[in-house]
Amino acid sequence: MLILGIESSCDETGVGLYDTSRGLLAHRLYSQIALHAQYGGVVPELASRDHVRKLIPLLRECLAAAGVAPADLDGVGYTAGPGLAGALLVGAAFAEAYAHGLGIPALPVHHLEGHLLSPLLSADPPRFPFVALLVSGGHTQLMRVTGVGAYELLGETVDDAAGEAFDKTAKLIGLDYPGGPALAALAEGGQAGVFKLPRPMLHSHDLQFSFSGLKTAVLTATKAPGWTEASRADLAAEFQEAVSDVLVSKAMAALRQCALKTLVVAGGVGANRRLRERLNLVAHRAGVRVHYPELEFCSDNGAMISLAAGLRFAAGEKGHRDGAFTVKPRWPLAELARPVV
Ligand code: ATP
Ligand code: MG
Ligand code: FE
Repeated sequence: MLILGIESSCDETGVGLYDTSRGLLAHRLYSQIALHAQYGGVVPELASRDHVRKLIPLLRECLAAAGVAPADLDGVGYTAGPGLAGALLVGAAFAEAYAHGLGIPALPVHHLEGHLLSPLLSADPPRFPFVALLVSGGHTQLMRVTGVGAYELLGETVDDAAGEAFDKTAKLIGLDYPGGPALAALAEGGQAGVFKLPRPMLHSHDLQFSFSGLKTAVLTATKAPGWTEASRADLAAEFQEAVSDVLVSKAMAALRQCALKTLVVAGGVGANRRLRERLNLVAHRAGVRVHYPELEFCSDNGAMISLAAGLRFAAGEKGHRDGAFTVKPRWPLAELARPVV
């Protein structure tokens, strides 16, 4: 089965073509970062309009790259939530109309399911069951994953997401939007430990996270006497270390709790080099295998949505053909039904 996937939940327009027997054939991604940079964050209305502008040209490119025609498609999957309502509506409306026009089924996909399954696109994919650490711009969650659609929430952040903390901290120390990757780059030249930041909820004896206090501690450090521009790299390094300490410790605790030896890390923060280094070290000692998505599939993309839809269609899910749809700006992953087999 050849499945088209469409992603438009935030500020990336993505399309992917996944063949259930041959794997990912092609994908195309357009990031709106430059559009939103001047406002210091994503402007929802501008995001929606830009998805309208980019979706069809990207789809054409993607079909050409894969060497397939619309008539070859067997189904269309699209991100139905969570995300920005207007942005989601663009992808959903297009996907439903396109599928209806071609007489093939459409399937709403949960954006986080896409993130979570994205390591399955790599050459050495993880096998179920595993623990997933989902660290993105809007979510920080630990899940027990026993199959496609079988996600049990083990713990999550009670306030900011890890990626959000990276972005807000970056802003505080004067880095441009989107600050996460810039903060990580700055941290490479700094030394952790020069500043002392808290490790929030490290000893909370559960799998919950909290990152909003860290941002306040960073703000306090920048207001202290003796703060100079030269201190920024050291503070960035300490921030990255504090976040990594908590993520590594809780991910390992989740593995012990579930008696599992496979960890999957997904979402934009999963691209963080220092986090990967720390996780790999601790995991190696504990006999745990860690799987990451390819770097290009850490942040939002259409490939992961075509994969999630493809796996669901392959498991027997039918989708629908009536063109009716709703989007779900808020949609807990644990509420997702197992595919009907
Ligand atoms: P969600 O998937 O929860 O709706 P999102 O789609 O915005 O949120 P992603 O695209 O998965 O999130 O990830 C984006 C986040 O990842 C941003 O907060 C960004 O700062 C962060 N990020 C990207 N690269 C890095 C990095 N190297 N180090 C730390 N953070 C990073
Ligand atoms: Mg984004
Ligand atoms: Fe995302």
